[in-house]
Amino acid sequence: MDKRDRARKILKTLKREMPGARIALNFSSPLELLVATILSAQCTDERVNKVTPALFARYRTARDYAEAETEELEGLIRSINFFRNKAKSIKACCNKIVEEFGGRIPESVDELTKLPGVGRKTANIVLGSAFGIPAIGVDTHVKRVAGRLGLTNSTDPERIEEDLSRIIPKELWVDATTLLILHGRRTCKAKKPLCEECAVRDYCDYYSSMRK
Ligand code: SF4
Repeated sequence: MDKRDRARKILKTLKREMPGARIALNFSSPLELLVATILSAQCTDERVNKVTPALFARYRTARDYAEAETEELEGLIRSINFFRNKAKSIKACCNKIVEEFGGRIPESVDELTKLPGVGRKTANIVLGSAFGIPAIGVDTHVKRVAGRLGLTNSTDPERIEEDLSRIIPKELWVDATTLLILHGRRTCKAKKPLCEECAVRDYCDYYSSMRK
């Protein structure tokens, strides 16, 4: 089976296993998702979701964050790791959004990645989940799962994104990101993948190599 067929079958199976799968971060606007994604670096989505209701109620626009008192902003995200650096990133990022984009979140990966604290993964997740623009976000889960399944031979996130975008139809890019992330969290865990419970093991290179 070629990689395109395999990718389609994997995604179809994962979709059946996880109907209604959605990004785990709570948000109601592109700005909220951008801020939540910056906060989620090396932090669980659950923890981020605990602090964002009060944060989003306090700051509603990019200008609000740009003009926020640093101490107050830090206080609202204090339970998140690296909160000082993240507060700095959020303020710098929102300042640039105000100064260069008139307060609107840009809708292209090139523009998004010009914002302080925003890498390609964050940009693609915001594009896909907040704007519905086809994009593949390669986080640690997507990297690991795609590698084990044999959908890519690379370990470089940008190359993985290219590989996946070649074999996955564009209309499935956003779903593919969400499904691979959730599959990585729930089943294809980093230390001990739950292969015997895995719905896509028949399509998995790692699983077949373990059985040889
Ligand atoms: S079979 Fe194992 S390694 Fe392959 S995707 Fe499933 S959990 Fe991951």
